[in-house]
Amino acid sequence: MSILTALDLFTVGIGPSSSHTVGPMRAARRFVDELAAADQLSATSRIHVLLFGSLGATGVGHGTTNAIVAGLEGSSPETCDPDHVISAMDRASGSGHITVAGRELTFAPDDIDLRPMTRLPQHSNAMTYEALGDDGSVLFSRTYFSVGGGFVESDAEFGTPAETSGIELPYPFDNGDELIALCASTGMSIADMAYANAVAVYGADHVDARLTEIWAVMSACVEAGLHHDGMLPGSLNVQRRAARLASHLESLESPDAPTELANEWLQAFAIAVNEENAAGMRVVTAPTNGAAGIIPAVGYYAERFKKVSRESVARDYLLTAGAIGTLYKRNASISGAEAGCQGEVGSACSMAAAGLAAILGGTPGQIENAAEIAMEHNLGLTCDPVGGLVQMPCIERNAIAAGTAVAAVRLALAGDGSHKISLDTVIETMRQTGIDMSTKYKETSTGGLAVNVVEC
Ligand code: SF4
Repeated sequence: MSILTALDLFTVGIGPSSSHTVGPMRAARRFVDELAAADQLSATSRIHVLLFGSLGATGVGHGTTNAIVAGLEGSSPETCDPDHVISAMDRASGSGHITVAGRELTFAPDDIDLRPMTRLPQHSNAMTYEALGDDGSVLFSRTYFSVGGGFVESDAEFGTPAETSGIELPYPFDNGDELIALCASTGMSIADMAYANAVAVYGADHVDARLTEIWAVMSACVEAGLHHDGMLPGSLNVQRRAARLASHLESLESPDAPTELANEWLQAFAIAVNEENAAGMRVVTAPTNGAAGIIPAVGYYAERFKKVSRESVARDYLLTAGAIGTLYKRNASISGAEAGCQGEVGSACSMAAAGLAAILGGTPGQIENAAEIAMEHNLGLTCDPVGGLVQMPCIERNAIAAGTAVAAVRLALAGDGSHKISLDTVIETMRQTGIDMSTKYKETSTGGLAVNVVEC
């Protein structure tokens, strides 16, 4: 993995899952590049993909098969047409071929081979890509791990420390204590340090453009979700409700009390994003797709009801949230398959709380306290998506977590920043709880709501 900055946890992609849709699409593209570099593409007649563990268990519901076919054909999460991706598997199965780097290869549905009962020792989200010759022999193969948030690592890279490429960050920090100490010694805000670190890696023009783009896509996703009605894809027949909720709230609004329904709107914003995600539309991974509604919802709430400027949301909110997110990525996990939902929704809730505390004028201590409170009350949260779809409990869970983030900020800003339990302590507790959590609660849909809700 390359060096991690606050910017890296936000990527423009498609739903419904960062680890099961975005990551596998990136892995497929990477495999084709490596196959070509190994000079084996011209001898390849078909590509066989094995999906292990959680990818095998919930891959169909999470759009993994479509993402892999689209990725092999050259699509990338950032620029693909979501409607094209949704039909990729059906198209390839119907025609009996896929086009990989200009070559037409044979394809059959069983070329995506689901192995849910096999878990590779390194990680639950493992996939092996094999290029086969005319006689069926394996010419070239690679195993990749989708480690959460759309990040992909090869088996050679897995577990190796972040590679810095010789770049020295001006404000390096590995944990919350170091971050707060840096704020004290420099007098700078978390956002300003996160900005300087990102600029050191990417340059100011790129960072400014990315922040603007990320917030624009997040806002557009909220707005799209508030207007799209109908059924979500999949066997659960889940009716979208953000648009109806928005109409209902508009009918209740009074010009004399413009913030009276702010908390209800906050929930509608989160549901809107997660419905777009569940429908496979354009979203920002933040830090995962299953948890993609929380950070946009809280930011949108700040703009609309707290009168925070768009520029401040696009910069200070995102950078502070991203800086806190790097701590989760580095010291615990943001992957539901690794740590349960506390790693996804818990991390996003904590990031959003930190960002909101920052743009409402919190001190570094209050920001750290808000992030800590938000995660503390998500500890132990399991991942048990019904039917392997990122719909129940995921969509509502984002709405509840957005409310938790705002409540955590209220508590933190009422204090002076001093508190007993540090952010680092809850991050480590989340990591340990994730290790202790049974595999059936880690994005395998073999426990919890996934087995107690009857699909109809
Ligand atoms: S339950 Fe949580 S971790 Fe699992 S898919 Fe849904 S949002 Fe992601």
